[in-house]
Amino acid sequence: MKGIVFPGDGTTVLKDFPEPEPGHGAVVVKIRASGMCGSDLHFYHGAFDFDHAVIQGHEPCGEVYAVGAGVDPARFAVGDRVMIHHYFGCNTCRRCRAGWPQMCETAPGKTMAVHVNGGHTSFALVPVAALLPMPEGLSFQAGAAIGCGTGTAWGAIKRVGGVADTTTVVFGQGPVGLSATMFAASMGARVIAVDVDDRRLAESERFGADLVVNSRERSVAEVVAEHTGGRMADVVLETSGRAGDDALAVLGTFGRAVFIGLPGHVEFTTQAVYKNQWTLMTSWTMSTIEQARCADYVVAHKLPVDSLYSHTWTIEQAEEAYRWFDKQDAGKGVFLFD
Ligand SMILES: [Zn+2]
Ligand SMILES: [Zn+2]
Repeated sequence: MKGIVFPGDGTTVLKDFPEPEPGHGAVVVKIRASGMCGSDLHFYHGAFDFDHAVIQGHEPCGEVYAVGAGVDPARFAVGDRVMIHHYFGCNTCRRCRAGWPQMCETAPGKTMAVHVNGGHTSFALVPVAALLPMPEGLSFQAGAAIGCGTGTAWGAIKRVGGVADTTTVVFGQGPVGLSATMFAASMGARVIAVDVDDRRLAESERFGADLVVNSRERSVAEVVAEHTGGRMADVVLETSGRAGDDALAVLGTFGRAVFIGLPGHVEFTTQAVYKNQWTLMTSWTMSTIEQARCADYVVAHKLPVDSLYSHTWTIEQAEEAYRWFDKQDAGKGVFLFD
């Protein structure tokens, strides 16, 4: 089978790999959709540490193809549609048991496309603990997005607490920010979407933003002040990794802000946080449990996760697909497999 590899110099290589065999407690998933996530670009350019020999793609989704020994056939059988939580932990430590294998206490966590083969290929070997049954009515490409980008937006909103009846400002309207706009609007927030690209902002309106601001053209703080009678935002979600200071500039008293975009930088004095009684936090993707709940929510509310994708690609188009994605000017791509 062919798999996409990143040498780390801004190129892609399509390499041959043997099809995986399902070991004990693992299954082989036939990949049907494998999303392109913004963080792929850090690996594409070699900015983050990773094993350059592993197959890329950490938003995979597909069907169970082969089941290893020790997997309960009542839980997962050949043909079942599955999402994948793309971090593999020990499954027995407290953090793994709580659904956070990316924070496994006992073993260095294994992340797809960083330490072990990812989903930009036809078949992936996945420990059964990382499999999540897909709810009826969810497409493979939606399941892929929920596996990282859309799930990250969901995880951040869950972590920051309720957004209903708040003014919520979402900085960055890439796939994560657009998903955050979609969830916050669906949960009853008045959403102000911020980006530097008018095409992205037009998408934000489609995904439920009440107001959009091009931060190249207008001061976001002025717009938020006008819109809130000077009280500013209750909640801020910073997904761009570039708007840390702007995020604090629009946060009102008792405001809650979550910083999701990487690498990200934000400066504050304790006194400013104290005087405003702010709650500032970050959020690392989502737990296994929240990934499953995110999928259920998307189905229950008929949210348009499929329309996050502007481009579909075949694996043979890997080079072109990542050159396009690297421009970061619009949309999200997904590799589809028959
Ligand atoms: Zn663990
Ligand atoms: Zn990701």
